[in-house]
Amino acid sequence: MPRKPAVSPKRAEPSIKLSARGVARLQGRHPWVYRSDIAESNGVPPGALVRVFDLRGKFLGTALYSSSSQIAIRMISHGSVADLPALVAERIRSAIGYRKENELVSNTDAYRIVFSEADFLPGLIVDCYNDVLCLQILTQAMDAAPVREAILQTLREELQPAGIVERVDARIRELEQLPPLQSRLLWGEKSSTVFTMNSGVRFHYDGLEGQKTGAFLDQRENYAVAAQYAHGEALDVFCYQGGFALHFSVNSAVHPAARCSSVTGVDSSRPALEMAEKNAALNERELEWIEGNAFDLLREYAAADRRYDTIVLDPPAFAKTKRDLEKAMRGYKELNLRAMKMLRPGGILVSCSCSYHVSASDFFEVVADAARDAHKSFRVVENRGAAKDHPMLLNVPETSYLKCLILTVSD
Ligand code: SAH
Repeated sequence: MPRKPAVSPKRAEPSIKLSARGVARLQGRHPWVYRSDIAESNGVPPGALVRVFDLRGKFLGTALYSSSSQIAIRMISHGSVADLPALVAERIRSAIGYRKENELVSNTDAYRIVFSEADFLPGLIVDCYNDVLCLQILTQAMDAAPVREAILQTLREELQPAGIVERVDARIRELEQLPPLQSRLLWGEKSSTVFTMNSGVRFHYDGLEGQKTGAFLDQRENYAVAAQYAHGEALDVFCYQGGFALHFSVNSAVHPAARCSSVTGVDSSRPALEMAEKNAALNERELEWIEGNAFDLLREYAAADRRYDTIVLDPPAFAKTKRDLEKAMRGYKELNLRAMKMLRPGGILVSCSCSYHVSASDFFEVVADAARDAHKSFRVVENRGAAKDHPMLLNVPETSYLKCLILTVSD
């Protein structure tokens, strides 16, 4: 009997074919394709690197596959990828370089180093808090051991941190069908530190502390700009750990004259306010912190005819999905209307929305609507978005989510 050569059967590389609609999305330079636009696939394993084709077999590029998300693939390259960990390392170096070469980050030792799709690394977020780095992994492909190893090694080599922590969002791991993990120190010794924003405002960071920790780094530039206009008695509604409030009461090289005579922060989260109080002490300031529901409190203050010179509204994302949009708009309307009525002549309103589903024009409209009902005219002093270390991709609207209007009331 002739002997057969011992050939190990070569496993076909994972590949998928897209429907015409899926192809059109990629041609529109959007990296996501939904499961409903996958026409054929050859049993692609969770988190695999897949080669992507159109129905006629034309090669379109390489993507990261998720077996559980509605977003079935996220493109990582329009060419072939031989070594994903090496590509991830290169993209991290390039994200660091992009921020450095363009001088996007100044006067701060806290900023976002990698912002997922916007840095061509779908599913990876890395923040820097002085000497501690914090990473978040949001997809099956980024969770693979060799990719994790490449991420850690590159961050250590490029940035020499004292510690790298992983912040786990349990809900996202469940959605991605990844095994549960605890937030933990991945490397080094340090998981907490003090960081400084806008040359002078200091904050504590504790990467392993309870619920959500870390700062809203996307508001960093808005803090400094809002502080230029803030004056008199200020109310920071949804203050979290005191980002705006502290910038209104601490002098810094970026905004030399903090002109607020008093600053009150309001939030419903006690741990956030405890951290805000610690941050105030760190900056040797005394601020007032009120624990409560912002809607109830504003209603109460309005009924009591309270007046302020500066009000910040920075609520959580009211619209988590498209379906919540109408309710979200009612929420924004109510908050803005009450705040507008409470402003003294010449007062400043800093009004933010971080819901991606509420577009910039929707938000503008709802704030304008509130002004009409408040019978007051406002000038738009600044119409802003996220800080530049949170890049926006022109063809990916999901990367542009934060709106921050700074308004002055003229009568
Ligand atoms: N302005 C903050 C970020 C705000 S994030 C900064 O720059 O750091 C939204 C905050 O709203 C969270 O701290 C959350 O605890 C708080 N929050 C959510 N619902 C609330 C409510 N109904 N009333 C008051 N605070 C609320």
